[in-house]
Amino acid sequence: MASSAQDGNLVADPAAHRVVTLERPDGQHIIVYVDGSQAPAVKPSGYTRFVCMSDTHNAINASYPVPDGDIFIHAGDLTSCGTSRQVKQATEWLVSLSHPKKLVIAGNHDLAFDLETYDQRWRGKLREPDDPVAVKRQLTEAGAGIVYLEETLANLDASEGGWHVFGSPWQPAFGGWAFNGERGAFMKDRWRRIPEQTDILITHGPPRGILDRVFIGESCGCDDLLARIKQVRPLVHVFGHIHEGHGVLTDEHTVFINASTLNHKYRPAHPAIVFDLGRKTET
Ligand SMILES: [Zn+2]
Repeated sequence: MASSAQDGNLVADPAAHRVVTLERPDGQHIIVYVDGSQAPAVKPSGYTRFVCMSDTHNAINASYPVPDGDIFIHAGDLTSCGTSRQVKQATEWLVSLSHPKKLVIAGNHDLAFDLETYDQRWRGKLREPDDPVAVKRQLTEAGAGIVYLEETLANLDASEGGWHVFGSPWQPAFGGWAFNGERGAFMKDRWRRIPEQTDILITHGPPRGILDRVFIGESCGCDDLLARIKQVRPLVHVFGHIHEGHGVLTDEHTVFINASTLNHKYRPAHPAIVFDLGRKTET
């Protein structure tokens, strides 16, 4: 049974299908386990296994189940407000994970990561400011395979599938948090930075109309992000931010994954989502 989303060409229904597959016209193959704990222990030969989470907000610890894999992806909001103590706790959790590589972006709650606007934004959110540069370094210099992406492209090694992964923390403004941008020209410019060769896109927020509905029913995603995705056509787009949107949808080019781990009451409720991606065929 397929559900139709707003733009009419999305085919997977996360409630009905626990396994979603996409065979692209170019032969690239993606297998997604909406409940990552259901993924078979052995992935197909030559595939790379990605394990996706988002929006953990310091609410999970080492006892929360995280499937093994080659690459771990966290799509932002590791913390409640990005304080030094919170970033330390979240980083220790990331370090403890078994994955050889961990691709991480910040989200709107990770205040200290937005160095340019921290001085304006910490007031009203925190009692006192931290040194945001030092806070950020706790994560970016932690080692243990952690790669922090902020409008940057990571080129995975050939042994990891050779994929190009671009990560961006930006989302349309709401409530004066980090990496908030005005809808329209500003956001359009941010998304223009997503390179054409991006295979896997990680953003904190969703595109408009895709796993982006808050529980009162409003669709909160970014129109300009959706427009850029239709140009770039990444294989996979991983995001979070709208906790209620956890799940997977696909069109004929892209698998969309809302990996929010917490539910809208900020309780850990959703499993990690796992996908196996076939080794890229050179063209
Ligand atoms: Zn968020």
